[in-house]
Amino acid sequence: MPEETIFRKIINKEIPSEMLYQDDYVTAFRDISPQAKTHILIIPNKLIATTNDIEIKDEILIGKLYTVAKNLAKQEGIAQSGYRLIMNCNDDGGQEVYHIHLHLLGGQPLGKLVTL
Ligand code: AMP
Repeated sequence: MPEETIFRKIINKEIPSEMLYQDDYVTAFRDISPQAKTHILIIPNKLIATTNDIEIKDEILIGKLYTVAKNLAKQEGIAQSGYRLIMNCNDDGGQEVYHIHLHLLGGQPLGKLVTL
């Protein structure tokens, strides 16, 4: 079994976060160390440690992360100016928290690639 991370405590509201969205499947909150004017993390409530651990049965859940992301982009007023969605995997991908999360970055020109 993969180990729970700090994101479990955020989902359960055991530690504070600037939560923007939550339903039975997905939670979204502002990144504590923003790398762009808008930097939001969208995560499944269920622990999936890395993208390598995504299973066929998770396909709808993973799709939901993107639906929540595009709704939040609209809410943040960056849908038309544009944004970037990134999911890091393991060491070379720069993953620090082993509970998959989609980074929603925007609010400014991001250039060719943002390194998180
Ligand atoms: P990654 O490097 O892709 O695993 O990204 C992990 C992200 O989680 C980083 O951008 C961190 O700033 C962010 N993060 C870590 N702890 C918290 C927290 N308590 N609240 C909000 N964001 C956090």
